[in-house]
Amino acid sequence: NGRVTAIPTPTTELAGWRHAYSGKVRDLYVPAETPEGATPERMLVVASDRVSAFDHVLSPGIPGKGELLTTLSVWWFDRLAGADGGRSIPNHLAASHELTLGADGQANTPDDLKSLIPDAVAGRAMVVKSLDMLPIECVVRGYLTGSGWAEYRENGTVCGIALPDGLSNGDRLPEPIYTPAYKAPLGEHDENISYERTVELVGAERAAELRDLSLEIYARAAATTEAHGVILADTKFEFGIDDNGVLTLADEVLTSDSSRYWDAAAWATGTTPDERMASFDKQIVRDWLAANWPAPREGEPPALPADIVERTTARYRELLERLTAA
Ligand code: ATP
Ligand code: MG
Repeated sequence: NGRVTAIPTPTTELAGWRHAYSGKVRDLYVPAETPEGATPERMLVVASDRVSAFDHVLSPGIPGKGELLTTLSVWWFDRLAGADGGRSIPNHLAASHELTLGADGQANTPDDLKSLIPDAVAGRAMVVKSLDMLPIECVVRGYLTGSGWAEYRENGTVCGIALPDGLSNGDRLPEPIYTPAYKAPLGEHDENISYERTVELVGAERAAELRDLSLEIYARAAATTEAHGVILADTKFEFGIDDNGVLTLADEVLTSDSSRYWDAAAWATGTTPDERMASFDKQIVRDWLAANWPAPREGEPPALPADIVERTTARYRELLERLTAA
């Protein structure tokens, strides 16, 4: 297991905020007046244009990606808060942070929060409640592909869950399955774990709540995307606990980084895996890296070529346009 590529510390100073942490894609800031080591009430989550695959941050970044991810996350938080007709799922957007998409397709931020978001990161930043994050990546798969397909081919299971015989890469599963992973500290690889292991990590009640909520969100989101001719093949959620003990949806949600999205028409008529899984997501980058930087992937990854960068931006943008179209 190689170490992940080092993450550059952001060089931009953001007035009113102090840089606290950088993940592979997002930079976290706390209010400048927060005492060192203290947990503030609110944080600023800034999505960068960085792209990671196989746990390595690649270069160059994907221009406009941070903004697309933020807009898409905010759109989904809003749907899941009830705009899709379902019950309201608590999310980490700060209380008065009812972001909605304006007619121009850009995220609108109420004025009081707008003033908190520095111009340098406008459009790709969210003011959020800081949560006690759970160390579990809540993965839901409705279709068989990626590491799930690899495991199924080996022994007929996905994360230990037995599946019917005879499935092919890209097939729809009889029903969506919950396949959690342990969220490894920065610099280590996430690892698939059993449901029982999540019980050990967070207790029986929280583990069941995580599973049920993840499956509920997936089902609602998949219904939404299908209405727009898009398949939500799989996705990953992160949750945290707020000050009142409420399980809260955090980080990014249902973005092209955290999900696999395919064109439904191509899937229905395609005959090869490539034709069936015409993706609106990071698979373009993963596939290129897999072909051009074989395992064990040591040292620095090769630079992404311009056409891969352009195609990724175009597909991320197309997804947003399709989903938000009336
Ligand atoms: P990846 O998402 O690629 O697996 P990562 O999670 O390490 O990697 P980022 O998503 O870039 O990288 O980092 C965002 C970090 O912020 C994560 O550690 C995430 O758990 C944390 N985070 C997100 N929302 C909140 C929140 N509301 N409160 C506290 N931490 C949060
Ligand atoms: Mg993350």
